[in-house]
Amino acid sequence: MVRVSNPHSSVDQLSSYATKQRREESPPNILLCVTLFSMDPNCIFCKIVAGEIPAHIVYEDEHTLAFLDNEPIREGHTLIVPKTHVDYAHHLNDEMYMHLMTTTKKIMLTVEKALSPSRVGVIIEGFGVNHTHVKVFPLNSPDDLSTHHEKISSDEEFVEMATLLSQSINN
Ligand SMILES: [Zn+2]
Repeated sequence: MVRVSNPHSSVDQLSSYATKQRREESPPNILLCVTLFSMDPNCIFCKIVAGEIPAHIVYEDEHTLAFLDNEPIREGHTLIVPKTHVDYAHHLNDEMYMHLMTTTKKIMLTVEKALSPSRVGVIIEGFGVNHTHVKVFPLNSPDDLSTHHEKISSDEEFVEMATLLSQSINN
């Protein structure tokens, strides 16, 4: 039987060596990148993520992007998308789903802080664009969710709203 005077130290060394080896030996993880950031060339949200189509960006991090809906039903109507093309939110892996929801909460807090609505509404339904998107709305009555209230905003109003929201983000 081999006795190790400080087994914890040996285990730590081994595990740290294994981690180091993994980091050093792993090539750039192309498969992971493809999985995380797969794109559909015909998808308007993928084009926004890639910067090929302009949008009024409110927030961006490594895995998610939040921007104003260009056909808002309320001023401040914001979309949050994962940067990878996945049609249904419930088909995202758990990590990406949780990240999307964390960004959604950040945008909800921002809309509350910047626009002071009675309520902040969230919808995931997926009609329109088949790239997962969460819709966040400032609400003052249940009727505010009606698409009959679609608001036509000028470019100037979009820029003002995107600036207001992006400056209100609590990072
Ligand atoms: Zn897409």
